[in-house]
Amino acid sequence: MEYRRLGTSGLKVSALSFGSWVTFGEQIDEDTAAACMKAAREAGVNFFDNAETYAQGKAESMMGAILRKFGWKRSDLVISTKIFWGGKGPNDIGLSRKHIFEGMEASLRRLQLDYVDLVFCHRPDKDTPIEETVRAMSHIVGQGLAFYWGTSEWTAEDIRTAYDLARRERLVPPTMEQSQYNMFHRDRVEQEYRRLYEDIGLGTTTWSPLASGFLSGKYLRGIPEGSRFSLRGYQWLKKRFEGPDAGAKLEKVRKLGRLASGLGITLPQLAIAWCLKNPHVSTVITGASKPEQVVENMKAVDAVKHLDGEAMAKIEKILANAPAPEPDFRS
Ligand code: NDP
Repeated sequence: MEYRRLGTSGLKVSALSFGSWVTFGEQIDEDTAAACMKAAREAGVNFFDNAETYAQGKAESMMGAILRKFGWKRSDLVISTKIFWGGKGPNDIGLSRKHIFEGMEASLRRLQLDYVDLVFCHRPDKDTPIEETVRAMSHIVGQGLAFYWGTSEWTAEDIRTAYDLARRERLVPPTMEQSQYNMFHRDRVEQEYRRLYEDIGLGTTTWSPLASGFLSGKYLRGIPEGSRFSLRGYQWLKKRFEGPDAGAKLEKVRKLGRLASGLGITLPQLAIAWCLKNPHVSTVITGASKPEQVVENMKAVDAVKHLDGEAMAKIEKILANAPAPEPDFRS
């Protein structure tokens, strides 16, 4: 495993990490989840991701029970959670000072931990002033309930506002963003945040490297039983890949699969290794419903060596979706 700095912070995260969305507490039972975490840990993963909303808290309870069962040394681990959707009441949702503290305490109880390493504002909250959120997150860190705080799917403008405010008010600034990043979803990480990496040292913990499994190639011949797109309650996800451009996307997946075979790696490994090639990615959060998938995906760290300039150019040609470079009006 390779360990990368989380932005310009002093924290080292495994370049591949493991998360619990859809799977823990919903799709898989505790034994399978434990087998997945064990396989990830054996491959050198130190970072495990969660959120208060995953399976309405069950994902955190399951991960907490597994961590306790394995008894891994706490200082070897980086555990995260995300706060926003904590329940149905008007104050169980959003980024008010009240929900941030109450949500954090409930998450820690479920995870059976005294602190998480990272806590994210899971989405921006239009009903809470950014200053209230920044002060609350800064106090969460000040109280030792988390070591670093960050955002998830915030605009670059809101991240910069939060950062500048924290600096001005001598509060703890956000350290990292958790954004979707994969071969079909590139603009935010590659374009919108471009200036934040240098200006504020933003770290990224990117999610859905396989576009929920679509980039594994498993959907080339329909929807396999038990796969994510077949799950009840996830039809909205399936629909994302059924639009007018679905055929073109499937064709790209087919071509990428052929390219991966030619390189002697699997398509999931190619797709995950491609994310790792981006130097602004601190860690790629992977997901899996089976330990065999974890074993396969973790080999993406070695697969990076196959993605030389020529292979990357071929991928770019297939994808044909690179964000436009920043214009240089001097030349
Ligand atoms: P992926 O896009 O990698 O999708 C993972 C799913 O793809 C698996 O559960 C499995 O689904 C399938 N899969 C994985 N590996 C293989 C393989 N080798 N071969 C075939 N199928 C495979 O990642 P996720 O969407 O799960 O996201 C990863 C993590 O990112 C989440 O767990 C969560 O921690 C985080 N996240 C954060 C979000 C945010 O808003 N901040 C939003 C979403 C995720 P199956 O077997 O069921 O088909």
